[in-house]
Amino acid sequence: MQVVDTLTPCPCGNHSGYTRCCGPLHEGGIAQTAEALMRSRYSAYVLKREDYLLATWHPSTRPASLKLAAQHPAPSWLGLDVKRHEEDGESATVEFVARLRYGGGKAQRMHEISRFVRELGRWYYLDGHFP
Ligand SMILES: [Zn+2]
Repeated sequence: MQVVDTLTPCPCGNHSGYTRCCGPLHEGGIAQTAEALMRSRYSAYVLKREDYLLATWHPSTRPASLKLAAQHPAPSWLGLDVKRHEEDGESATVEFVARLRYGGGKAQRMHEISRFVRELGRWYYLDGHFP
């Protein structure tokens, strides 16, 4: 387990801190919006919570494994910027830019438009594409 200082911003950038933002979702809480789920998934990448990423991935598109621990060089996540969040009933779209760096490389931008679906009150990541 990685220890997170609750005084620092949440890994997703929320200044209210991990224990009031993505932490409760990582412990099984229900994301109220697709954006909240998306932010918690970004934080899960930062914290290498592969279990959480798989659990919030829709079964129809979920990979068997992400092998985050085997990534070399491992990415350093530098920040998240949510551009757009649209919910329409049980489906939602979140557009975001995540910044990351591999090893000592240059910072890169990952711009993704993700789709989410809600089933039995829980949001799941469905898929994403790069505009
Ligand atoms: Zn957060």
